[in-house]
Amino acid sequence: MLTFEELGLKPEILKAILEIGFLEPTAIQQKTIPHLLNTKQDLIALAQTGSGKTAAFGLPVLNQIDGDSKKTQSLVLCPTRELAIQIANDFNSFTKYSKKLDVVPVYGGASIETQIKALNKGAQIVVGTPGRVVDLIKRKKLKLEDIEWVVLDEADEMLNMGFKDDLDFILSHTPDQRQTLLFSATMSKEVLRISNNYMNNPEEISSGKRNQGADKVEHFYFVVNGRDKYLALKRIADINPDIYAIIFCRTKRETQEISDQLMADGYNADCLHGDLSQAQRDAVMGRYRKKNLQMLVATDVAARGLDVNEITHVINYNIPDDLETYTHRSGRTGRAGKAGISMAIIGPRDLNKIKQLERILGKTFTKAEVPAGDAVIEKQLMAFIEKVKATKVDEKQIEPFINNIAAEFEDLSREELIKKFVSLEFNKFLEYYKNSADLNQNAKAGRERDNKDRGDRRRGGDFNKLFLNIGEKDNLNAGTLLGWINGLQSVPNGIEFGKIDVQRSFTFMEVESQHEQTILNALNGSEFDGRKVVAEPKMGGGPRKSSRPEGKRNSSGGSGFKKRSGDRKPGGRARVKAGSGSRRK
Ligand code: ADP
Ligand code: MG
Repeated sequence: MLTFEELGLKPEILKAILEIGFLEPTAIQQKTIPHLLNTKQDLIALAQTGSGKTAAFGLPVLNQIDGDSKKTQSLVLCPTRELAIQIANDFNSFTKYSKKLDVVPVYGGASIETQIKALNKGAQIVVGTPGRVVDLIKRKKLKLEDIEWVVLDEADEMLNMGFKDDLDFILSHTPDQRQTLLFSATMSKEVLRISNNYMNNPEEISSGKRNQGADKVEHFYFVVNGRDKYLALKRIADINPDIYAIIFCRTKRETQEISDQLMADGYNADCLHGDLSQAQRDAVMGRYRKKNLQMLVATDVAARGLDVNEITHVINYNIPDDLETYTHRSGRTGRAGKAGISMAIIGPRDLNKIKQLERILGKTFTKAEVPAGDAVIEKQLMAFIEKVKATKVDEKQIEPFINNIAAEFEDLSREELIKKFVSLEFNKFLEYYKNSADLNQNAKAGRERDNKDRGDRRRGGDFNKLFLNIGEKDNLNAGTLLGWINGLQSVPNGIEFGKIDVQRSFTFMEVESQHEQTILNALNGSEFDGRKVVAEPKMGGGPRKSSRPEGKRNSSGGSGFKKRSGDRKPGGRARVKAGSGSRRK
């Protein structure tokens, strides 16, 4: 195994990465750095998330940038603004001691004028999202004729998000003799196609098995009734007082609702999804990175590629339909060789999905029990006791009062005193968990109940079925479809989708009837994977629910997630308030 020095990096870069604390190259870096320093051959690099891909392309490219020229020499494309900022920050720390190198991130949702000013000053390296890069090229503010290296980071995700045309446009504006580098955690049909279309005889490098989740991640699942998911989530949080988690939801709306609910219940939580403004997203990410937030509730797209170390738990609030999404989610933990836990909260009907994931990932998923109320209480009490023991006493400050305090407590035994202090902190919590139910579902009973739930929901009659002219042959699955729709500008927040049935060349999809027209308008005329999408109400197949005479609409019916009614909601703050003193730094 070669060291960074032996791989041939310049002293100023070596100094910077030593300072960051990179001791030796990761497996993928071992392979990509010499390739990129020594050849102009295109490259496809596949490596699991958390394996250091940013440095794997960043270090060798930055090593070769000519600081004496102000021309843009390298363009890095990635799917989200957060990722663009993160990569630019990483690049800045890699080049801390390299003089005259400017890295400029460009992305939507922020002032283009500011970005143009930064570009005008000269940026040898531009890191951007495809949409904004196209915009800047069209305005002739970003010149690509001197580009030597184009990096496609998270390439499959960019394609999933419908950036294919943008990539086409951008790549056609770069010189033919450029070196194209494609980085991805997973290999998919889309990635293969992009390499065929845009790359020239690429070398393929992979480290670890393809499509393999991060190695040190343990996988667990909980089987609960659909209605109890939120309660299960709370117990998981409560039994892990030091949790630092990311919770993945399927839709923006669900993301918002779960996070609102967690906050209302006194947890240290917030959410990240595409409907927030750039400033809001930055603020949330900032608090999460600083660990002022313990739980980040996010959509897949918003959290894609984010590098936050030391995440203890990845929680799948629902199990994704495709393996790649699961791999990306679980890759948020167990990073840089640390151990991590990925959990899925599933309904009894999802067991086959677990089996499927086990087969493809080649990993065992352990069935875990949602902790009982007693166990949660014990864990929280012990954590509290540890906190008391670790509390520093300011002798000098407390000294003048201590005699009076002692006098007040004179009649209480040590035992009684302890009980009172603990109760002071814990009564609400104890109350909440008193007689708490066992949330675990035995598979059979659960299935019956779940079906009943579903029947009820149908009777609520809130969904209309649409026909779409895209299907499996367009590389569509339920997950990519939802991700794509949620990413469309014209789709407002909060629309709920029901059953999705993807066939070879078409798809049926249920949408809340009151939003049917919005979705039809948004989809018709848009493009998915290069195809013009045609969407229409499904004809035939029984009466359409919206046309039922009474037109009765159950306001909460059809919502995958319902706010809990009062009886099972904890009275106010269920969680033991985490005093800032014991918080992780
Ligand atoms: P990926 O893009 O493969 O998901 P990242 O490039 O985001 O992974 O890196 C994951 C984490 O590993 C980052 O915190 C990064 O700083 C760290 N890292 C990268 N390379 C090394 C290295 N050689 N030694 C130690 N840590 C590293
Ligand atoms: Mg990455």
